This record gives sequence, structure tokens and C-alpha cells, in this order.
Amino acid sequence: MIVQYFHLIKEIDCQVQALQQQSGEHPCPTDCYDCCRNTATMAISAVEAQHLSIGLKRLPRTTQQYILEKAKRTIAKVEQKGYSEQRVLEAGIEATKLVKGKKEGDCPMLVGGVCSVYDYRPVICRVWGYPINNSDGSQNIACCQKTFISQRSDLQPLPYARYWSGCKQQSIDLDFNHRTPNCYLVRHLLTS
Ligand code: SF4
Ligand code: SF4
Repeated sequence: MIVQYFHLIKEIDCQVQALQQQSGEHPCPTDCYDCCRNTATMAISAVEAQHLSIGLKRLPRTTQQYILEKAKRTIAKVEQKGYSEQRVLEAGIEATKLVKGKKEGDCPMLVGGVCSVYDYRPVICRVWGYPINNSDGSQNIACCQKTFISQRSDLQPLPYARYWSGCKQQSIDLDFNHRTPNCYLVRHLLTS
């Protein structure tokens, strides 16, 4: 199944590159990583998790340990507030607010302002910064507040809803149609 996922991310990366060429430049300042903040509880699909697992296991032991400690700190914080893994998943954006703006809200895989698993990052991380279409039926366009401010209507948005349903279907095919909050997934992958 991971082979199908490789096809999907190859397609995504090609479409992102085409949009980048059309717009003339990479949209993000090199020192910005704001979108990696407040993602510690985001839901990650099973097929994305499988790929992420490869990236995490290739990291040096000390980096893995650092990431694991970050994930554990986030889990401790949300559980202090009475949440469990399942409840974090069900709460969605409400769970994000539990750690929003705090260091426990940062993605555990953000190390020194850099994504430590860049080649293995989930789909949303591959497209965020570009205009994306969040829904199959209508033109529900989302984009980072800092990018493509005056150009959004000139660009064809990336079909994010289709990418996400591809992940969902591939996860079902893996017999594991389950999403896991980022911090819990990282702890699981680095302790199993
Ligand atoms: S996986 Fe990487 S790109 Fe995605 S939120 Fe975490 S640090 Fe940022
Ligand atoms: S998508 Fe937005 S927040 Fe993320 S790096 Fe680019 S400019 Fe910064």
C-alpha cells in the first residue's frame, strides 16, 4: 500500500512544484515555521503514519529521544486537562486550543526550527502555504494567511480533499482506517 502512497505524494509534489513555477517563487520566508506550531494534536492517517515511521526511525538516536520527550510533554499537558487520545481525536480544533501558543503545541518533529522528517512529512505539510481546495463539491479555498495574498484567485488550488480521501482509502486498504493525534502517534512510533 505504501507504493500507492508514494504515487500520491509524487503527484502532490509535482502539483506543488507546478504551482510554485506558475506563481514565480516559493511562497514562504525561509525562517518561517509558524505552521509547525499548534500541530501537536493534528490527526494523521494510518498510511501517512507508515511513511512517517520510516523517517523517524532513520533519525539519530538523540534526535529521536528529543522528539519523544516533546511528544510526551504534549500528552502530559492534554491529559492534565482530562483528555485521552480518543478524546483529543474527537475534539479536533478544540483539542488544538488546549496547547495553542504553548511549546507543547509545537509539532514534536520540529527540531531547531526545522522539520526533522521533511521527506516523510504528512500530506497537509506538503501543501500548506499554497491555496488548497478543502472540499470535493464546492470551491472551499484555504491558504496560509501569509502567502499568495493578492494572487489566490489567479491560481488553481491544489485538490487537497482528493489527496486526503486518497489517504483515507489507502488506510482502509491497510485495514487500519484510524487516525492518530500527532503526539500520540510519535510516542507510539518511537516506543514500538
Ligand atoms: S511534520 Fe514537519 S512540516 Fe509537518 S508540522 Fe511537523 S515539523 Fe512541520
Ligand atoms: S505556510 Fe505560512 S506559516 Fe507556514 S512556513 Fe509558509 S508562510 Fe510560514
